[in-house]
Formats: sequence, C-alpha cells, structure tokens
Amino acid sequence: GVAAAAPDAGPGPAWQSKCPWGAPSTTSISCSLADVMSEQLAKELQLEEERTAFPEVVAAAEGPFITGENIDTSSDLMLAQMLQMEFDREYDAQLRREEKKINGDSKVSISFENYRKVHPYDSDSSEDEVDWQDTRHDPYRADKPTTTPRRGFIGKGKDITTKHDEVVCGRKNTARMENFAPEFQVGDGIGMDLKLSNQVFNALKQHAYSEERRSARLHEKKEHSTAEKAVDPKTRLLLYKMVNSGMLETITGCISTGKESVVFHAYGGKSATEDKVIPPECAIKVFKTTLNEFKNRDKYIKDDYRFKDRFSKLNPRKIIRMWAEKEMHNLTRMQNAGIPCPQVVILKKHVLVMSFIGQDQVPAPKLKDVTLSNEDMKKAYYQILNMMQQLYRECNLVHADLSEYNMLWHDGKVWLIDVSQSVEPTHPHGLEFLFRDCRNVSQFFQKGGVAEALNERELFNAVSGLNITADNEVDFQAEIEALEKMNEDHVQNHGKKLSMFPSDGDPPIYDE
Ligand code: ADP
Ligand code: MN
Repeated sequence: GVAAAAPDAGPGPAWQSKCPWGAPSTTSISCSLADVMSEQLAKELQLEEERTAFPEVVAAAEGPFITGENIDTSSDLMLAQMLQMEFDREYDAQLRREEKKINGDSKVSISFENYRKVHPYDSDSSEDEVDWQDTRHDPYRADKPTTTPRRGFIGKGKDITTKHDEVVCGRKNTARMENFAPEFQVGDGIGMDLKLSNQVFNALKQHAYSEERRSARLHEKKEHSTAEKAVDPKTRLLLYKMVNSGMLETITGCISTGKESVVFHAYGGKSATEDKVIPPECAIKVFKTTLNEFKNRDKYIKDDYRFKDRFSKLNPRKIIRMWAEKEMHNLTRMQNAGIPCPQVVILKKHVLVMSFIGQDQVPAPKLKDVTLSNEDMKKAYYQILNMMQQLYRECNLVHADLSEYNMLWHDGKVWLIDVSQSVEPTHPHGLEFLFRDCRNVSQFFQKGGVAEALNERELFNAVSGLNITADNEVDFQAEIEALEKMNEDHVQNHGKKLSMFPSDGDPPIYDE
C-alpha cells in the first residue's frame, strides 16, 4: 500500500488519471490491493448512497452504462440531483409559506399542493389506496369482455349477475394482488383462476402493506448497525468526496473505534489552495452520529461558556458537529502554544482531518502501551507538567480527559490528543476536571517509578497557580468545588464569566 500511495507512482500528470476521458485505455498500471479495495469501496458507497437517495434513478442506471470509468460522471449526476432536490425542497417550503400567508386563519383555504415539486421518494403516496370497487385500473377489464353494464347487472331473473358477483369480484381481487409490493409473494393466482373474497383480499392487502412498512423499518435498522461498526452513508460520502477531490490520496483503514469516534488513517493528497499543505499522513476522526453516546457528555459542552448560547438552540446532529468543532478549536489553540499535538487539516461537519502522529500507517503508541526507559519516563513527566501548565495558562484550557490513554509517544516526546471535551478553566466543573487530570498523571508517573513526580494536589497547584492548602483529598476537592461555586455565582450575578487571566497570565482571581 505504501508504494502505490506515493503521489508519483502513476504515469503522467495527476489530472490525467483522474479525468474520465484523459486516461489512455491501454495503460494498465499495477495497483495495490489497497487501491483496488478503496476504489471498489468508493464505488459501492457511491451506489449505496444513490440507492437510498434516488431509488428510481439507480434502478435505471444499473443497466450497461455504469462502469468503473464513469463513476465520476455518475457522481456528478448524483450531486446535480441532490442540488435539484435541495432546490425543490426550498421551492416547496416557499409555496407552503405563500399558502399560509394567503390563507391566514380563514376557514376556507386554497391549496398549492398541485404545484409542489417533491420527489417521488420523499412523498409517501406509494400506498395509493385503490378502492376495490373502483374499476378504472382493473387489470381484468381487457381480457374479460363481459363487463358489467352501466346499470350494474347483466342477465335476467335468477341468472342476474351484478358487479358484486362473487366470481367476477374474486378474480378481480386476485388480479389486484399484483399491485402489492414486488417483494410480496402472491403466487400465480390468475393462472389458477383463484377467486378471493373481498374479506380475504382486504386482509391480504393489509398484510402486504404492513410487510412493506416492516421491511422498511428493518432496512433502517440495518443502516444503523453499520453505523455502529464503521460510519453511516452520509459520512462515507463525505470521506469519499475528500478522496475524490484529491485532498486525500487514499483512506487506508481504521485505527480506532471508540464509543464516541472512529479514527481512520489516510495518505494526504494535494490541497486545492496553494497556501495549504496537506500532511503526508492524516488521521480522520469521525464523531459518531449515533447520538446516545453523546448524551452523557452533555455536561462538558452545555456549560462551556463559549458554546452556551448556541447549545440550547441546536438539534442533536448539530451538537455532534460542535464536538468536532470544539476539538478543532482546542487543537488550534494548542498548536499556537507550541504543544505537540495533531495539526488540524480540515473540518467537515462531524469529520475532523488532522495530521497523523505516527509513521507508515502505524500510529504512535499510547503512553500506557509503551515501555520507556527511566530516563525517558522522567523526561515525559516533565514535558507533561510543562504542557499542562501551557495548556492552562496559554491556551486557557483544561484537557479534561488527560491520561496515559490520550498521550502518544512519538519522536521521543509526548503528544496530546483527544481534546474535544477540553474546557476552559472557568467551566463550572473545569477545576474538578483539572484535578482528575492531575490525579491520572501523577498516579501514572508515580507507579512508573518517577520519584520526582508531584502528587495530585501539588500538581494541581503547580498547573493552576492556585494555592489550595488542604492536605487531604476530600478537603482539597471541597475547596475546588467552593471555588467553582464562587465563579458560578459571579457569572450568575454579572452575566459574564470572570476572567481567569486578568492581565498577563497571573493565577486566576476568584474574589473581587
Ligand atoms: P476517542 O474519543 O475515541 O478516545 P481519540 O482522539 O483518543 O478519540 O482517538 C482514538 C485513538 O485513535 C487514539 O487513542 C489514537 O490511538 C488514535 N489517534 C487519534 N488521533 C490520532 C492522530 N492524530 N494520529 C495518530 N493516531 C491518532
Ligand atoms: Mn481517546
């Protein structure tokens, strides 16, 4: 995979291999398995996406025309259709507004329903109820010359046959089963001259419709479970577009699946703008859109002053994007302070692309997984002490999930990652989070044999510049909470947060 991913592996300029018309058909470039896989994957994802969004279109396109070569074209088609769909939705929304304006609260209203543009797949008119007495669509009519005359019956006396005749009706009912969903097996009722009573027919019809709905539900479930494992179709389309645009060369695979995110490795491609350089290797962090996992993280973001105003107005999907956005902002702050951490490449919705810490697809080990020499261990400790102070003073941040799990050992130093939950120290629980971070760090290094390692309380004071004197954990924590309370009250009373850094990075002042 490494050789094939090198940007100069293919012959000719880059545009040639990407342009559907420009590639000479005779050249067969040897291609790594990873490339084939990803191309195939991309195509599958593409089709799948189209199938969900445009069931009818794809059914038509699956003829002899879709080949590996014109995947670009089909993607354009899809994009065009998505745009059209967006346009039509807006158009319809506008119509609805006009309708409302005109009708006001008048009892008699006019409807613009007929002018709406909704696409067939998002209107649910498929359950077109056909009254069984309605003969307009009767499939029997053509090959049954003995139609019921206008007066509703034929024959005379005892032999009178009305349109409600059992046999005629039964046959009609059998034929109407053809209108059920194609997956619904009706058998060859017409062939065996099956006559269904209205009662049986109606029961079957009911069953057919509920089956249809059930299968739709099952399908939805299936989509969800794949989202659990990797990513949902919308995310896959986002990733695919990043590769398609050339920003990423290839996405090689998954590095990590956590509860809240999935991280992929990718080789960087070329940036659309000259001034931006895409790192040779990237990590793609996809924040999971299955919302339940994020519920218990609400407290991190809900009380973050930077996001407070926005939080209440947002829907869950947007809140997830905010996690990604938060990670991006926090990483940028850290980058500016010179703290070793991934560099942000791009943020697209809930997908954050950053530089990869590691080499040749192998991520740098977490501190918990690496065995360091005593010397390196001590070095790492002092580096972290330093980084925690920088983070607090220069970035105005508390990591809030700092532990040997979120520190990588790379290039002889420690790199901080996973800062989506990081908060400003004035966060109502900011100091508690800091204390927890300190406990993790000091425990790790004390166990790791660093004699110089401060205990958690000393570390807390060293990082925050506060001077909490309690000599036991319980009192210490109580003091922390009292400080937080004071800050919170101040916010309540003054409607704005108290500056933790009044002038030049002095320790925070809590009293006035
Ligand atoms: P989570 O919230 O799932 O813990 P992380 O940001 O910690 O998310 O990422 C999960 C794992 O993915 C990390 O433990 C690390 O192994 C890997 N990882 C994340 N970002 C990078 C990166 N920029 N470079 C290399 N590996 C990364
Ligand atoms: Mn993590």
